[in-house]
Amino acid sequence: MNDLSVLAPVPAAVDSPAEPSRVKALPYRSWVEVSRAQIAANFLAFRSAVGRGVELMPVVKADAYRHGAVEVSRTLEENGASWLAVSNTDEGIALRDAGIQARILVMADFLPFTREAMLAYQLTPVIHSLEDLAELNRLASAREEKLRCHLKIDTGMSRLGVRADAGSISQAILAAANVEVEGLMTHFASAANYQTAQTDDQIAAFDCVALGLHATGIRPALLHLSSTIPIAYARRNAWRSLVRPGNGIYGYVSPVRGHALARIVKVKPALTWRASVLSVKDVPAGALIGYGGMFRAPQPMRIAVLAAGYADGIPHKLSNRGSVIVNGKLAPILGAVSMDLTTIDATHTPELRVGDAVTLLGSEGNVSIDAQQIAKLAGTISYSVLCGIHARVKRIYV
Ligand SMILES: *Cc1c(COP(=O)(O)O)cnc(C)c1O
Repeated sequence: MNDLSVLAPVPAAVDSPAEPSRVKALPYRSWVEVSRAQIAANFLAFRSAVGRGVELMPVVKADAYRHGAVEVSRTLEENGASWLAVSNTDEGIALRDAGIQARILVMADFLPFTREAMLAYQLTPVIHSLEDLAELNRLASAREEKLRCHLKIDTGMSRLGVRADAGSISQAILAAANVEVEGLMTHFASAANYQTAQTDDQIAAFDCVALGLHATGIRPALLHLSSTIPIAYARRNAWRSLVRPGNGIYGYVSPVRGHALARIVKVKPALTWRASVLSVKDVPAGALIGYGGMFRAPQPMRIAVLAAGYADGIPHKLSNRGSVIVNGKLAPILGAVSMDLTTIDATHTPELRVGDAVTLLGSEGNVSIDAQQIAKLAGTISYSVLCGIHARVKRIYV
């Protein structure tokens, strides 16, 4: 693994013969290659970590963290996923239109204008207030059918979820006679931080509600709290009957703070992001490169201009900081990342030609750049780097 904080140019090999690009160029300005086999392997790694007794619900929201929700969902379904989670109704409809048959949980919607479509498309809503539970019951009565939902409890994150005592929740559920609460769930605010008690407090708050409901005869079959981190770091008392891995399905498990158990899930990134070289040229010593003249060439240099910029998702913060991989070597980004273009140092890869491909995220040989490294340089999180890859970047499945 290369440490991206070391961006000193790689010394040029003396008299190195021109090598052809090691990466297959494709006729796109910028594209991602998503490995279906790696998505499947990551899913199966979670499957074997939690065992048969725990249901898996991979999260494919935000276009499967930009890996392409339809293709990813097909792959997961072929590998045995019987549940998928999305954020909103439109995402669920897109999956149904593509023929996805698995149960689909819509985690963050039930806006008034989405409810009819949600039910028409056999999507399962997460209900996050007792008023919405009553509303779902009205919709069920009007349709003369029983409707299923999962009820979200706010156990301390203060985002979505019901913040009420078990007694009031129980009353509301019993009053909603045409609704079956098949799942009870919550979400952790600080899963990656083992130095705070917040996760344990949230588990305790969840159990308090679950036990209170149990006492009144309400026993949802599916209890779920965990996203990638509590699964990967074996926080088994947060697994219950179902878990919701997102980031890990795409090959990322964030590091944690404090003392966690050893990681029990081995996954690898499934996405590689490339861009085409649009121009190659030599500039003299002293040349200023890009907007604002943020970089001045200290000596004569060869530069290459890539056909991708921040509109494609390359973080603007990588200006003068990031690197890409060119024929197996790190090449620094020079000057400001522009909207549609990014300039790199091609001095040490004189063989580079217009139309060749470089790697923005991924590996070539033993040099690699992953979303966590980019996130660190850009002052953000790996999730945001992946989700930031714009829809105009072509997706290829390999
Ligand atoms: C996004 C999300 C997940 C998945 O989280 P990861 O950290 O990507 O595994 C799980 N549950 C909820 C409610 C989410 O919003």
